[in-house]
Amino acid sequence: MNRWLDMLLAQYNYLLRDRNESYDQVRSPRLGNYCDFKSKGEACPLTCSVNKSHSIGYPWKKSQKNPRRNAYEAQSSSLPTLKKERPWYKTINSTVLQQTLRQLDVAFSKFFKGETEHPKPKRRSRFRSFKYAPGQVKLDGNQIYLPGIGWMRFHKSRPIPDGFTVKSVTVRRKARGWFVSLQIEDKSVPDPSVKTKGEIDASRVKGCDLGIKKLVSISNGEIISNPANDKKSKRQARRLRLRQRSASRKKKGSKNRKKSFSRVASLHDRITDKRRAYHWETAKTLTNEADALIFEDLNIKGMKSRCKPKPNENGGYERNGQSAKRGLNRAISNAAWGELVKKVEVVAAKSGIPVIKINPKHTSQRCPKCHHTSGSNRKKEKFVCTECGYHDDADVNGAVNIKMRGLKKLGIDPTQLPSVRGKVTPTELTAI
Ligand SMILES: [Zn+2]
Repeated sequence: MNRWLDMLLAQYNYLLRDRNESYDQVRSPRLGNYCDFKSKGEACPLTCSVNKSHSIGYPWKKSQKNPRRNAYEAQSSSLPTLKKERPWYKTINSTVLQQTLRQLDVAFSKFFKGETEHPKPKRRSRFRSFKYAPGQVKLDGNQIYLPGIGWMRFHKSRPIPDGFTVKSVTVRRKARGWFVSLQIEDKSVPDPSVKTKGEIDASRVKGCDLGIKKLVSISNGEIISNPANDKKSKRQARRLRLRQRSASRKKKGSKNRKKSFSRVASLHDRITDKRRAYHWETAKTLTNEADALIFEDLNIKGMKSRCKPKPNENGGYERNGQSAKRGLNRAISNAAWGELVKKVEVVAAKSGIPVIKINPKHTSQRCPKCHHTSGSNRKKEKFVCTECGYHDDADVNGAVNIKMRGLKKLGIDPTQLPSVRGKVTPTELTAI
C-alpha cells in the first residue's frame, strides 16, 4: 500500500504539471512558439507539447455533439500509454488509478468555483489515501478484500446496516496505522424535505453564537462548553508541546527523530479524533428539538490574519500585539468552527432542518430591546445596554441577535414570538 501511494503521488504531481503547462500553452500568443509567462523562457516548436505526439492524452473524441475532451477525459485517455511505458503501474488496481485523476479534477473544479486555492503539488507526507470505485471491495465478516492487494483482516468498528450497499472505499495511512472508510448507500431511504416557512415554529428556532471559552451559546440560554478548556485537554496539549520540543531536538535525518515525530503525529490524531467525536455529539444536541438553526457567516481566515506592523521613527517597529494574537489564533484553529458547522449541516439535513448563515455584523453590540448598537454595550462577559439598561450574558445576547436576523431571513416576523428567552416580554419586542 505504501508503494501504491508513492506511485500515485508521482502520477498526481505529473498530471498537475501537465494541466499547468497546457494552460500556459493555451494562453500563448502564437501556437508552437510559446513562452512561459512566469519564466519568460521560449520553447521551440519541436518541444512544444501542444502537438499530438507529445501532449499527454488525446484532445478529441468520437462524439459529434461535443468532440473536444475535457481535461479529465484527455488525461484519462493517457492511462494506457502510462501503463505501457511504466509497466509497474499495472500492479495498481485500475479504478484506484482512475480515482487519482478524479481527485485532481475535483481539486481543480473546487478552485474554479473559488472555494479553494490553486492545486499545489503534494508532498509525500500529505498524500495519504487512495480510493476504490464503487463495486470493487468485498466484505466477509471481519475480512475485507481490496482488489490488487488481497484479503485481509480488519477491525470492524460497526456493522453495515441492513439494506445498505458499499459504494466507494477509501484506504488511508495515518500515524497509528492504516484505516479504511466505507461509503454506504440505501436508495430506498427517501430524501427528507427541508422544512418550509409554514412548518417552522419560531420558538423552536435556535440562534447559535460560536466562541472559544463557550463553544456554542444558544439563544434559549443553553451553553455548550469547549472541551479544550478542561483539565484533561490542557494536560494533553502540554504533552503535545513537550513531545514536539523533544522531537525537534533530535538529530536531523536520524531514526530517533523519525520515531519521535511519529509519536507527535499519533497524539495529534488522537486529539483530532476526540474533537471530531465531540463535534458530532454537539451537532446532535443542537438539532434536537429545533426547527431551524442559525449561525454567523464567519470569515475565519480574516479573523486569524496577522496584526498590521507599526513602524516607529527610528526605523524599527512598535509592539503591535501579534504575539498575544498568536494564542487567540491557535484557540480559533482548535475550536474548528467551520468543521462543527459542516457536521451540523449533515445531521440537520437528515431531519430536514434548515441551517442558515447570517451576516455577523454588530451581533454582539446590539440591544434586542431598544436596538441601540454600540461597542460600549458590551462589558467583557456581560451585555448591558447603555440606553435602556437591558442586560444579559454577552454570548447569549449575541445568539439572540443571530436568531432575530435569521428569522428575518426566513421571512418570519419575530414579534409573533412569546418571548426571546423568558426575560423579554412581547410588548418589549418591536419590529426588528
Ligand atoms: Zn437597550
